[in-house]
Amino acid sequence: MASISIRKLFKQFGNTPVIRGIDIEIRDGEFVALVGPSGCGKSTLLRTIAGLENADAGDILLGERRINDTAPRDRDVAMVFQNYALYPHMTVAQNLGFGLSIQGLPRDQIARRVQAAAETLGLQELLARRPRQLSGGQRQRVAMGRAIVRQPQAFLFDEPLSNLDAKLRVQMRTEIKALHQRLGTTTVYVTHDQVEAMTMADRIVVLKDGRVEQIGAPLELYDQPRNAFVAGFIGSPAMNIIAGRLQLDGAPHVLTDDGLRLPLHRAPRAAHGDRVLYGTRPEHFTIDGGGNGDADAALPADVIVVEPTGSETQVALKLGTQTVIAAFRERIDARPGERLPLWPVAAKAHLFDAAGGHRLD
Ligand code: ADP
Repeated sequence: MASISIRKLFKQFGNTPVIRGIDIEIRDGEFVALVGPSGCGKSTLLRTIAGLENADAGDILLGERRINDTAPRDRDVAMVFQNYALYPHMTVAQNLGFGLSIQGLPRDQIARRVQAAAETLGLQELLARRPRQLSGGQRQRVAMGRAIVRQPQAFLFDEPLSNLDAKLRVQMRTEIKALHQRLGTTTVYVTHDQVEAMTMADRIVVLKDGRVEQIGAPLELYDQPRNAFVAGFIGSPAMNIIAGRLQLDGAPHVLTDDGLRLPLHRAPRAAHGDRVLYGTRPEHFTIDGGGNGDADAALPADVIVVEPTGSETQVALKLGTQTVIAAFRERIDARPGERLPLWPVAAKAHLFDAAGGHRLD
């Protein structure tokens, strides 16, 4: 196992910059997820670590060793692909052992490693089958087994669960996390699914347009997003972001263009009248003002859609010209067309400057 350091990394395809100066320090044994919208450069970054793409500038270190110029097979990292990339004509056992036989490992050692990986992943009964005789989840497990037998310094996963159905995806993400806890191998995991990243990773790197927007533990990103982009990207349903002007005469609040007052629990470091973005998560609305709500402070919200999920009720509401999503743990009896009094919890509000989207504290 080893740490991975990515320093001032740049990469372009033709004239199009794709990685635009990335710095990430991944600790030995850490599970780091790379997330961001499609096209932000996640896969390219992972493939550059694997050596499948060459960096134009910057350094990639595995432990103390700079690996920019090392051939992919000599980098001592193992990649797991979205499409599994199994050899269709080989059995599971042969698929697992193939990489090791190419390396010239003695047969008995290959057999031992294949056996150990099969046990780790529950593949013992499937060793004689071919890939087409396996379910999607089993194929994914074989693809992981092929990485495990190599006993690499790091695992690189490229959207490994996107081809599985929703239920299997949730099951496999638990399996991969448990596997990481058992093996403790440094892992870099690319996904466009922020829930996957939140649930699996020790730390998340949010990328946009080839740059790092924020690096942090899942709940750090959730509670303290550094900018409006991260605020909107992390969390599902997404944070509600409402534009307005900061008001600091009297109790601090944001006044929307519709004339609604959004409460703040303290004055941020910005000037009266500044254009700002007020962020509030769906679970940070109440319909009773927390028990002691000042009725005058309630926002008039018109119910559009009610979505009971069982564990909570999500409600889409019209607030002035904005649509917001609120999520309530309790079961609320609201109907489309009805007007609800809505209180955003002031202490949970996030504030960003409208021009740059930077967090205002
Ligand atoms: P992500 O994984 O975040 O969806 P990618 O790293 O796959 O993004 O791609 C980032 C950008 O680089 C995209 O605009 C994509 O079209 C472009 N790109 C990726 N691979 C190549 C390539 N081999 N040649 C040219 N452009 C590429």
